[in-house]
Amino acid sequence: MNSRKIRVTLLLFVALVASLPMSACAASRPPAEPRRRTELQLGTVCTITFMDGGDEAAFDAVFARLAEIHARMSAQEPGSELSRIADAAGKSPVAVSPDTFAVIEQALRYAELSGGAFDPTIGPLVRLWDIGGDGERIPSAPEIEAALALADRKSVILDKAKGTVFLAKAGMRLDLGAIAKGYAADEAARIMLERGVRAGIVDLGGNIMTVGRKPDGTPWRVGVQNPFSDRGEYLGIVASEAKTVVTSGVYERFFEEGGRRYHHILSTVGGYPVENGLWAVSIIADRSIDADGLSTSVFALGLEKGRALVESLAGIEAVFIDADKKIYLSSGASKLFTLTDGAFTLAD
Ligand code: ADP
Ligand code: MG
Repeated sequence: MNSRKIRVTLLLFVALVASLPMSACAASRPPAEPRRRTELQLGTVCTITFMDGGDEAAFDAVFARLAEIHARMSAQEPGSELSRIADAAGKSPVAVSPDTFAVIEQALRYAELSGGAFDPTIGPLVRLWDIGGDGERIPSAPEIEAALALADRKSVILDKAKGTVFLAKAGMRLDLGAIAKGYAADEAARIMLERGVRAGIVDLGGNIMTVGRKPDGTPWRVGVQNPFSDRGEYLGIVASEAKTVVTSGVYERFFEEGGRRYHHILSTVGGYPVENGLWAVSIIADRSIDADGLSTSVFALGLEKGRALVESLAGIEAVFIDADKKIYLSSGASKLFTLTDGAFTLAD
């Protein structure tokens, strides 16, 4: 979908290959050639790389799983489980797959943690703006008010024993666009390990997850995308034992009108794209569902409250990039992040 993202992967790929030990060439087993497959899935460019281990059937299994998750959790596909839940809103509970149930549960957890800045019941508002879609436009105030009235996380009724989801008010609609890709990345990684991939990379539209260990034993190095560049450049490197880096920002999907940028992370308070001076937030974590849920939550909360949330969570670090090209780091991120682009400055 977006050549920028393919280039990010390429850069990563080069960085990773360059760090393979030269002595591997002399070893009895020749160094494995990294193998890659790219497909459009989950509405974005997904690239899976096997650096050590794995076969064609493993690629097939990973992509089949991504397609399955999309078919279940898409907010757009008419037959998806999310669409069935929306169709039954105000009427009846809907039985869903354990996948969808678990992701909705996690989404509600991030809604709680963020005090509602992140909210999976934002579906009607996301549809109204349709940012990145054919119908994207600035809605009227009454339209926004009506859509916001349908965003209410307390009206999502989960029945764990029955595996059902019920939206209490007619017109309500879930949107898991801010978290489903993270879940999909975790699933891709799980399948890769199960199928003998010893080292590899999952890249779901810039949502990066490393799998296994690098052959030379050094930590993985993942580029943090420059949110001001449309050429897939990165502004710094995260070298971490944590497995995933996920970024949310104003550059991913947006339209411009009257000299203003309208991007795809929407405020649950005002109903407009969030404007708080941040340009992007990258979250470093072990599970990609956490990194994805938190990247959107923390972006929506802004620097101060977002940083406080990150500091309150174990095993989570963050890199904040603001409109003035200043970079703020969570306390643990300073040990993991190296700035490589001189156009940016480290704050504090
Ligand atoms: P990306 O999809 O680029 O990885 P995010 O993970 O930040 O970016 O998710 C953005 C998507 O989340 C939007 O396209 C929309 O579907 C949904 N969304 C927008 N605003 C919110 C919000 N306040 N809370 C929850 N989901 C949101
Ligand atoms: Mg997200």
